[in-house]
Amino acid sequence: MYDVKGNLREVLASLPAGVTLVAVSKFHPAEFITVAYEAGQRIFGESRAQELATKHAALPKDIQWHFIGHLQTNKVKQVVPYVTMIEAVDSLKLLQEIDRQATACGRVIDVLLEVHVAQEGSKFGFTPDECRAMIAEGQWRAFEHVRICGLMTMATFTDDEAQVKQEFSVAARLFDELKESAFANSEAFAVRSWGMSDDYPIALATGSNTIRIGTKIFGPRIY
Ligand SMILES: *Cc1c(COP(=O)(O)O)cnc(C)c1O
Repeated sequence: MYDVKGNLREVLASLPAGVTLVAVSKFHPAEFITVAYEAGQRIFGESRAQELATKHAALPKDIQWHFIGHLQTNKVKQVVPYVTMIEAVDSLKLLQEIDRQATACGRVIDVLLEVHVAQEGSKFGFTPDECRAMIAEGQWRAFEHVRICGLMTMATFTDDEAQVKQEFSVAARLFDELKESAFANSEAFAVRSWGMSDDYPIALATGSNTIRIGTKIFGPRIY
């Protein structure tokens, strides 16, 4: 097996204080998660509803599961019982459905708004203008079973570090702007989730405080 424990230690040792690590375990077997769990990791990221349900059933109940993938509204019901955070909310409709399903299970779900900043690659997420407009319109204020905790984004998959930095900086500025305009009184609105195995040092340099690392801990994903 990949040296999950050693890799995890190495990643953690490279992080400044106050940065949260989401260990992205999608497509990796439960045994890999157990190794990381035994080394102290508690936050794991998954991107498919069925896989999350299966792993939730098999693994310790104090794991905090983040749903990091694109979520269709018809799958919300399947993930809401298991997640502590849904990271990639990309429409008001999805936010509303999370609120509805969370109400039905008597839970409050933490969410991040996904912002689309990449020139290439990911096609999901609000543009910064759509995100501003959605927040300004204010319908989300009526959703009492979701708590908006910040922003999530992905940069273009490229070796051009200046481009990656520029894209993450767009998210960083939007975070500051929304914090001031709509979330100044929200302690919860504090999460800046950007950075993956190949770009997390750049992410940290642009204000990220939550990184989502898969390959660097668990090795290549087997489909
Ligand atoms: C798969 C995935 C990651 C982890 O990517 P690695 O390059 O393996 O670290 C992070 N964030 C999201 C949204 C993902 O889908």
